[in-house]
Amino acid sequence: MNQPSNNFLTAVLKNKCPRCRQGNLFLNKNPYKLKDGLLMHEKCLVCGQPTEIEVGFYYGTGYLSYAISFAFLVATMVAWAVIFGLSFKDNSIFEWLITACILLVMLQPILMRLSRTLWLSFFVKYDANWKNNPVDKPERFIK
Ligand SMILES: [Zn+2]
Repeated sequence: MNQPSNNFLTAVLKNKCPRCRQGNLFLNKNPYKLKDGLLMHEKCLVCGQPTEIEVGFYYGTGYLSYAISFAFLVATMVAWAVIFGLSFKDNSIFEWLITACILLVMLQPILMRLSRTLWLSFFVKYDANWKNNPVDKPERFIK
């Protein structure tokens, strides 16, 4: 636990706090507990970094999750084209589309968490010396 065992990518994929890369951001480890899958700790339990740094902070994740979903569709389309071929002539384009949409819906809980973690890590930088540095005060535009 004392080693900075996560780099940026593994910290994001494991939904770790961007500041210390150790604390979990979400209350529940399982993203498929749909009732509380998106509930987050108010602060990182390891370094004290607040997870909602301003009011409505996570509205922007809608755009991010859209971009991730789009990237996912493109990636599956390329993979499908390489493995099975993609054409209007034999309906393979529709087979891909249906498969990709089902996968996308099934992956939604993971993607929503991923976009929240990514979004927070755009604004909160990793601090290797987080034990000695104070947490930045949350910015609030409306007092
Ligand atoms: Zn932390």
